[in-house]
Amino acid sequence: MAEWRNWSQSVVARPDMIARPQTEPKLRQLVRNARKVRVFGAGHSFMPLCETDGLLLDLSALEGEIEVARDRNSVWAPAGMSLAKLTERLWMLGLSLANQGDVNPQSLAGAIATGTHGTGETLGSLSTFALGFRIVTADGEVVECDATREPDLFQAARVSLGLLGVMTRIRISVVPAFHLRQRLFGAPIGEVRERLDEWAAANRHVEFFQFPYSDLAMVKILDTAPAPDGDTTVITDIDERAFRFACEFSRNLPFAIPLLQRLMARIGGAVSESIGPAWQVYPSDRTIPFEEMEYEVPRAVGLDTLKAAIDHIRRRGLPVTFPFEFRITAGDDIWLSPFNRGPCASVSMHQYGPMDWKTPFAAIEPIFRAAGGRPHWAKRHTLSAQDVYELYPRAADFERVRAAIDPGAKFANQHMSELFNIFPRSRIAA
Ligand SMILES: Cc1cc2nc3c(=O)[nH]c(=O)nc-3n(C[C@H](O)[C@H](O)[C@H](O)COP(=O)(O)OP(=O)(O)OC[C@H]3O[C@@H](n4cnc5c(N)ncnc54)[C@H](O)[C@@H]3O)c2cc1C
Repeated sequence: MAEWRNWSQSVVARPDMIARPQTEPKLRQLVRNARKVRVFGAGHSFMPLCETDGLLLDLSALEGEIEVARDRNSVWAPAGMSLAKLTERLWMLGLSLANQGDVNPQSLAGAIATGTHGTGETLGSLSTFALGFRIVTADGEVVECDATREPDLFQAARVSLGLLGVMTRIRISVVPAFHLRQRLFGAPIGEVRERLDEWAAANRHVEFFQFPYSDLAMVKILDTAPAPDGDTTVITDIDERAFRFACEFSRNLPFAIPLLQRLMARIGGAVSESIGPAWQVYPSDRTIPFEEMEYEVPRAVGLDTLKAAIDHIRRRGLPVTFPFEFRITAGDDIWLSPFNRGPCASVSMHQYGPMDWKTPFAAIEPIFRAAGGRPHWAKRHTLSAQDVYELYPRAADFERVRAAIDPGAKFANQHMSELFNIFPRSRIAA
């Protein structure tokens, strides 16, 4: 029996087999013959999305090229390709993704499966860029869908958590390649609260980080810029070396956390400016292990929700070492997207991996839920099936499409079955 772990090492899977097929016929044969199947990309999800005791698939070696549409507004790309490789190749073709998240090792399919997003008032998640899918289904057949061919399957596939089949190719929208100017600076949280809407309206992307025990926020603003003359060096948003030291120090001496965080916020709030190709500016280094819980709350209550979470941590003196991250995302119309009821604020709580994350997350999750929040599917949450069907009016439509394409629930693992009340059709009949 093989062993697999996710990026944060908190999810362990013991599949019968891990396979890395290089061709679609081989992949189809593997899926057809398997009892249970899950796929992993970079394993960046904190929830047990990729966990299985059956076949675990890695699509990173599956053959395939990037095909650019004649109008250059979209491309078909291999689903298992990492965003790092994809965006670099797009750049060489004179193209960019319109937005990206914090990091880029994720696979295209993995990022889209969970509604991975960046920040930007007018920009949706990566799932909103998906225009078509090529999927290997439970019986090893291939189906393609888009807004006009198999439209219900397409709707479900835009955020699918890997429940419909194995995506082998994805068509995504792209834009002409662009450069970004990144500005980093510190600001008192009171000023951020006052000026966030103004910054968001005036700039392509805005986000900020706030340590729970500091009132100084680290603001990051990105905007399109002309290509600079000569070479560029993109400055990373968090100094990982100093921060790693601070995390270890905090773990051993938790009483020092408030003092350290006020110091880290000053270092992190140093003013800097750099310009670079968008595909290089979007991703940052994230090498320090952490666990994360993120809720998408209505934009209007985002700042108050963050404040309530931080007040609660301070009141209880909870040892939380990482900063909160606050981003904004446009609404969409995707059945399982947490953003499908309008503009949202994404409030992310992180904890240093080696420290207890369950206690602080459990203390703050009710605050996120009370604000009407829906969790990021890939990040820590404790939703039940009842919660899912209450929070997502279209979850029943998703489940109808899923049950039609995978009646034996080959692609559902334990977590998925609990989340959506999935039972293989044979068990219902019995
Ligand atoms: C350091 C770090 C930074 C992050 N930053 C952000 C961020 O800025 N914004 C954000 O929104 N999220 C962020 N995340 C979360 C991350 O983007 C999601 O967990 C994403 O799903 C990970 O992609 P992956 O390729 O690692 O997929 P995995 O975690 O490996 O898998 C995710 C899901 O996709 C499915 N899947 C993967 N490939 C396929 C396929 N070919 N066919 C069908 N299903 C498939 C899996 O079965 C699973 O259900 C971050 C996570 C980490 C660890």
